[in-house]
Amino acid sequence: MIVVGNGALGLFTARALAATAGARVSLVGPAQRPGGASAAAGAMLGCFGEVTKDTFATEAGRAKFEIGLLADERWPAVLDELAETAADEGQRLHHVPSTHVVLNGCGGPLDSLNYDAVVDALGKYRRPWREVGVDRIPGYHPRPDGRALRALHMSGEGAVDGNQVIGLLEERLRRSGVRIHDESVEEVVVRAGAVAGVRLRGGEVLEAEQVVVAAGSRTVELLRTALDPGEVQPMLSGVGVALVTQRTHGPSFETVVRTPNRGGACGLHLVPLGEGREYIGATNLLSPRPQTLGTIGTASAILDQVARQLDETASAHTIVQWRVGNRPVSLDGFPLVGWTSVPGLYVLSGTYRDGFHAAPALAAHAAAELAGSPGLFGPVFAPGRTPIRSWGVEESVEEYALHMTSLWFELGGRVPSQISSGALTDNYREEARSLYRRTGIEVGMGPDVLACLTGARDPAALTVLLRYLRAAGLAEQPVAAR
Ligand SMILES: Cc1cc2nc3c(=O)[nH]c(=O)nc-3n(C[C@H](O)[C@H](O)[C@H](O)COP(=O)(O)OP(=O)(O)OC[C@H]3O[C@@H](n4cnc5c(N)ncnc54)[C@H](O)[C@@H]3O)c2cc1C
Repeated sequence: MIVVGNGALGLFTARALAATAGARVSLVGPAQRPGGASAAAGAMLGCFGEVTKDTFATEAGRAKFEIGLLADERWPAVLDELAETAADEGQRLHHVPSTHVVLNGCGGPLDSLNYDAVVDALGKYRRPWREVGVDRIPGYHPRPDGRALRALHMSGEGAVDGNQVIGLLEERLRRSGVRIHDESVEEVVVRAGAVAGVRLRGGEVLEAEQVVVAAGSRTVELLRTALDPGEVQPMLSGVGVALVTQRTHGPSFETVVRTPNRGGACGLHLVPLGEGREYIGATNLLSPRPQTLGTIGTASAILDQVARQLDETASAHTIVQWRVGNRPVSLDGFPLVGWTSVPGLYVLSGTYRDGFHAAPALAAHAAAELAGSPGLFGPVFAPGRTPIRSWGVEESVEEYALHMTSLWFELGGRVPSQISSGALTDNYREEARSLYRRTGIEVGMGPDVLACLTGARDPAALTVLLRYLRAAGLAEQPVAAR
């Protein structure tokens, strides 16, 4: 069998398959991973820090959270295994065992709602946590205007060094006989109605009876070489810019420190990487196409925010590396996991913000299904589904206005004293309503998808999306076509 894509999902899937299918597994993906999400990720490992006020509001949200819990169960064994491989390679596995979540004061009511949701979830699932004074977080040194209102410490969630884990997983795969191809797949080959293999960019065909497409934000584009374009919902790229710095002075952070989740970011977060190196992430702007370069705007936003909200001494530290990755984002924001209509063709993607953490559970699920056994969860994220509806149109308008207002203030936007911030929120409401009116879209979309469409400089995004939604009966036909 062939796994297409060498990010966290592809690597963990190949690992799970190798345990059962051994040398018959091939993994295909370019070694440099341009624009790959996993190589750019902060690799925070947890699902509680990701909780928002909406996590438990829908069946799909609860199902996704359950996958996070399944991943939590698997990570200790994965870390033991990786620590062994690291020792064989003369390395020490880097693992940060805990996280502080800080409720940022610069933002809006959304941040408080999401922070409270994290607290509720920790209580409900009886996870170890405690409220701490914001001045007691090692390394945390925000500017006075960026101090957090509250903070909590979770001892059960931390982070790894994503690139180290990728390297160690690859090493384990080599040792277990998986064939690793430093190539890109051009096309999924279908013969007599069933999958037959993949064609590489250089023209060579690799034959296989089962193909798993885990190509990150390029997954749907690749699936279209084998499937009807309407079968799987469109995918967007959640472009994230992050950086690795080297501390020049002052004590390093000792835990992961992050703000709650929200559109426009995946929570501002800092992951200590050891010896004064620190990962700082990350922006999150949805784009119709994957990007490999960050913009000056996103880079300056993250630099400003880290100095303001986490560590005002950051401006003196040196930049070791910029990282740009594309989160695989399905239109409805949920994973795409399962068989397609073409026998033998399986999809594993759409993990959006927390796929590094979820990867061992998703891989175990996929490996079971590929072997013809029941997976770890039901078909809720089947790739051929119609988009899951988390919001009605008017709810989605409200959600968009809430996210954008918080983002406005976080980025330092001001409102003159004669005008209330409600007027700003009203503007965002009107922007979203106008998009729904213009396009005839009848299904509520996430705030980040709306931000992509309202701010789109590339009309192609809207065209592809509308074509899909109209064919699925989720947007009105244009007047001429009625
Ligand atoms: C800045 C940033 C921070 C993040 N932080 C976290 C975090 O802290 N915790 C967390 O759990 N998640 C985090 N995420 C999300 C997480 O990275 C993703 O959900 C997850 O890594 C996706 O893994 P993947 O394997 O599906 O995709 P990717 O990692 O994108 O891997 C896909 C791979 O497929 C390859 N590929 C693409 N096209 C082809 C082709 N045609 N042929 C062959 N190969 C192909 C690509 O080169 C790439 O290497 C973050 C993401 C970003 C961008």
